[in-house]
Amino acid sequence: MAARILDGVAIAQQIRSELGARLDAFVRDARRPPGLGIVLVGSNPASEVYVRNKVRTGSESGLFVDLVRLPDTASLDELLAVVRRLNASDVHDGILVQSPLPAAMGKHAEHVVFETIDPAKDVDGFSPVSVGRLVQNRATLRGCTPAGVIEILDRSGIPIAGRQAVVIGRSDIVGKPMALMLLHRDATVTICHSKTTDLPRVASAADILVAAIGRPAFVTRDFVKPGATVIDVGINRLDDRESVERIYPPDSPRRAEFETKGSVLVGDVHPDVVDVAGAVTPVPRGVGPLTIAMLMHNVIVAAEQRIASRQQV
Ligand code: NDP
Repeated sequence: MAARILDGVAIAQQIRSELGARLDAFVRDARRPPGLGIVLVGSNPASEVYVRNKVRTGSESGLFVDLVRLPDTASLDELLAVVRRLNASDVHDGILVQSPLPAAMGKHAEHVVFETIDPAKDVDGFSPVSVGRLVQNRATLRGCTPAGVIEILDRSGIPIAGRQAVVIGRSDIVGKPMALMLLHRDATVTICHSKTTDLPRVASAADILVAAIGRPAFVTRDFVKPGATVIDVGINRLDDRESVERIYPPDSPRRAEFETKGSVLVGDVHPDVVDVAGAVTPVPRGVGPLTIAMLMHNVIVAAEQRIASRQQV
């Protein structure tokens, strides 16, 4: 039987509509909307798309979204000056600096930026303070993508406690926080990476398998225990015909999409996995919409916390 498809768009919509009442209450008390400052350096095409979606969804949700653009040639000091200005601002409750930064800013630029963002405004959950709190299971601003995955599981009625979870990928932004969040929900968690031996065997022990690798259709049926829940975090744009034809059968609508658009978005999970898994998230319309919904959530939480901490003084 084909797997149940977990509809990220519907779940994200549900979260955003639940946030509406909190947003209204904040606006009533603070007499301004919660504010999000987004900093985009350069014009990386994928970042342009991500930022456009964040600006549109944030504005439609009733947030004040302030997009600050810097040219490719901007220095790290110029970027840090923008971050410090947003840190000091009264109307910006959340700050997001879009990754990746231009290579010319240096290898450690992102770490320096994450260390500079005020942890109270760190709506991406990337600052060392946020990561430390996550390790201690007391984070209030958690990474949007892994927090979104937990929402998908919870809202789809998929139990986590006591289950075997395998996360493929150990990045700071997805794999590691994902593993910690599953651990805090009492899953038994295995983290895999490029040096893991016999990955299909390890992965196929999972009741919940999360793929955050960045390789199109990498997770094939032999990675998946029958009935498992498979969460596909990967977003890969494929623009070569050979790869598209290798992954999708001739009658797949994705082939037709490729013919019209010249490219398709493909996850890290092969489409055949639907024949083995119990539930899967699609790409697109799976984890992606949750990432944005959880960003909105974090901005509202950050705004509420800032007001509350001021009232305590
Ligand atoms: P990174 O490149 O930072 O990390 C990829 C991870 O995958 C690494 O830990 C790497 O292992 C592991 N990996 C790579 N190749 C293999 C392999 N052959 N076998 C096992 N593990 C492997 O990527 P991100 O975590 O930033 O992103 C992962 C994917 O998720 C990307 O497609 C990205 O676009 C997508 N993404 C989607 C989001 C969404 O909203 N849906 C948000 C963020 C990311 P090692 O550490 O050993 O190198």
